[in-house]
Amino acid sequence: MKIAILSRNPNLYSTRRLVEAAVAHGHEADVIDVLKCYMNINTVDPSIHMKGVELPDYDAVIPRIGASVTFYGTAVLRQFEMMGVYPLNESVAITRSRDKLRSLQLLSRKGIGLPITGFANKPADIPDLLTMIGGAPCVIKLLEGTQGIGVVLAETRKAAESVIEAFMGLKANIMVQEYIKEAGGADIRCLVIGDRVIAAMKRQAKAGEFRSNLHRGGTATLVKLTPQERQTAVQAAKTMGLNIAGVDILRSNRGPVVMEVNSSPGLEGIENATGIDIAGKIIQFIEKNGKPNKTRTKGVG
Ligand code: ADP
Repeated sequence: MKIAILSRNPNLYSTRRLVEAAVAHGHEADVIDVLKCYMNINTVDPSIHMKGVELPDYDAVIPRIGASVTFYGTAVLRQFEMMGVYPLNESVAITRSRDKLRSLQLLSRKGIGLPITGFANKPADIPDLLTMIGGAPCVIKLLEGTQGIGVVLAETRKAAESVIEAFMGLKANIMVQEYIKEAGGADIRCLVIGDRVIAAMKRQAKAGEFRSNLHRGGTATLVKLTPQERQTAVQAAKTMGLNIAGVDILRSNRGPVVMEVNSSPGLEGIENATGIDIAGKIIQFIEKNGKPNKTRTKGVG
């Protein structure tokens, strides 16, 4: 097969591993920077060009689109889809998963466990919103945040009100969430491919920190999932319409709750923690499922 990997940087661990795995399985792989692509949108023969040259025909495309280039990146991916190229994750599903609130709404509609989450527009509604989610302590999150930046634990109701007011004053979109204290500063990253969890790791925050992000000094170890956790992760990916997803789960007293579903999960932390050849499994999934003109809008919403 001829596989296009949409990534801005060929030197990133995940990009390198995908190229390696594609080649090891006897395929050809090109790394393409979406921001260097331009497109001819027409009815008869849509095409993608780079530096004056039309891109060749690909059998499959692996999108690794960073959060900061979602708009243009998903447009390029959509163009590949229009040309009949098989996308590992569809553009619609990626767009859906990038909107944290919309994602939580879709997951809640499917009955998947979630931390109680509130969202408001007016400072006047903050007191009632806080009461709705169970008061303090609570977690306040910037909707646009990644790698734990913009995630704040407010220990008291007063602190929560001040932080929320400050964020609202800056016109930032935020959500306010029940604090899952019993998770003990740990979360679980489940790597879902198709309808299976193929790897899982537990990330533990460093002492004195509640955010378990590896970028914030968290450490990763192997973890054994319960059947309920597996099922929750697979259902969450399915609800978003993602073939591959990193589903982040907290262990709460009422069972697993989903924090986030990531459409471009990093491979480095989880391959190192588990020793599993995830890149190889991604290529095998594409070999099995990558047929031309297979794009259809999966999931809901
Ligand atoms: P990001 O997407 O920026 O990584 P997350 O929403 O995943 O932000 O939050 C970062 C970390 O903070 C999580 O990995 C988790 O350890 C912790 N965390 C987030 N939300 C909660 C919550 N509601 N209760 C307990 N811990 C949380």
